[in-house]
Amino acid sequence: MPVKMAAPWESLLPGTLRDSAQVRYHPGMTIAELQQKDREHHLHPFTNHPDMHKTGTHIILRGEGCFLIDQDGRRLLDGLAGLWCVNVGYGRAEIVERVREQMTRLPYYCSFFNTTTEPAIELADRLASLTAGKTRLTHTIFCNSGSEANETALKLIRAYWKIRGKSPKKSKILSRTFSYHGVGIASTSLTGLPTCLAPFDLPLSGFIHVPGPYAWGADNGMNPEQYGQWCIEETRRIIQAEGADTIAALFAEPVQGAGGVIPPPKGYLPELRRLCREHDILFVADEVISGFGRLGDWFASNLWELDPDLMTLAKGITSGYLPLGATMVSREITETLNAGGYLAHGFTYSGHTASCACALANLDIIAREQLIERTRDETGPYFQQKLRELADHPAVGEVRGVQLIGAIELLPRGGRAELARNPNTLGGKAAGIARKHGVIVRGIRDLIAMSPPLIITLEEIDLLFEGVRKTLDELWD
Ligand code: PLP
Repeated sequence: MPVKMAAPWESLLPGTLRDSAQVRYHPGMTIAELQQKDREHHLHPFTNHPDMHKTGTHIILRGEGCFLIDQDGRRLLDGLAGLWCVNVGYGRAEIVERVREQMTRLPYYCSFFNTTTEPAIELADRLASLTAGKTRLTHTIFCNSGSEANETALKLIRAYWKIRGKSPKKSKILSRTFSYHGVGIASTSLTGLPTCLAPFDLPLSGFIHVPGPYAWGADNGMNPEQYGQWCIEETRRIIQAEGADTIAALFAEPVQGAGGVIPPPKGYLPELRRLCREHDILFVADEVISGFGRLGDWFASNLWELDPDLMTLAKGITSGYLPLGATMVSREITETLNAGGYLAHGFTYSGHTASCACALANLDIIAREQLIERTRDETGPYFQQKLRELADHPAVGEVRGVQLIGAIELLPRGGRAELARNPNTLGGKAAGIARKHGVIVRGIRDLIAMSPPLIITLEEIDLLFEGVRKTLDELWD
């Protein structure tokens, strides 16, 4: 049984940095000075700057295991693994050493024009063996992020259909509402979140959003399975209305992540996959969050036997220690692309030498420490049990999740009617309160999302949910 541990915020750094406004950090500045420089010169991604500058940005100084140490010397339990990515936790010297060794020998060389480096070859080979048997994916082209992995997938798909003589007619792309696929112009167009699309007058034409299976959000009296079935019927209707011969591919996260942690209802994903197969539409699994263990398998596609035509990866591939993205494709797609001759796509840092070495060290840790088996058999089920124990809390409308990813839909005292009058306030508020209680969760609309490092222990899961319960109590009060 889990043992009781000190709450994370009770354990301060040696020498107690709290209130020590005079302590100087790299590069010789106090926290107040760093915050001032941040305000003067730094634009943050996905941030409301005027709001942030009312209090000053929150500076994280160090990471150890599942914990972060912040500007006040507080230890915060990182319930989101950075941005759903630090699968092996912070402070893994083995990764740092592997990267140091690689950078000393060869920090960088490209994979353009008939060259490449050892780590890029070794990583492509490792990915092929990890997917072998369960998918037809055999080849990888590297990039630097999840967005780039999806941008790359989109270009390979266009080239593939062109070489097969079906393009430009077969060029529309389907994705789902409440999906998140990145921030490039095209990968934003894939994303099914109005907050990401509207400020930039996106999506581009030819990007079509079919309904994602978010039953709680639809709030129409259907249970998740019924709603999932309705989504399938609606997707079929859209495919027929558009014409299957105009649709090149469908992108789907097996569990929708940044759109609010939306697991697929029973039967939904295999049906979606079948629909694509029936209509000769390429199926792209965006496994940027779900790849590398979070759902208790190397890839979530295996859980639903999706056998994708393409798969996009990032985040957990290096546990966030260095940027790296990857687009995997089947042999058939590779051979078609090869038939087209010169592949005019790639980034300066495609297959970056140090990032690939970093990924290899990270994948070694995941395998050696059996983090995937542990997630599947022990920590994932326990995390889900703790999540479900919160379902009766008055501030909770719904809990959902799979293994080490979960979400809590929040309710105000006025219930859903009040939520409809005043939406999108509770998630951010709850995430702010959670930090006071020593845990980092992500606020999205009126929910909080969690996806801790895969090294999390049962005791740390207890701590995480202790902080979340206090957060819910305070929110309700
Ligand atoms: N795809 C999914 C499913 C994601 O969750 C994300 C980021 O959260 C991306 C793509 C984009 O990845 P990046 O932020 O590395 O560009």
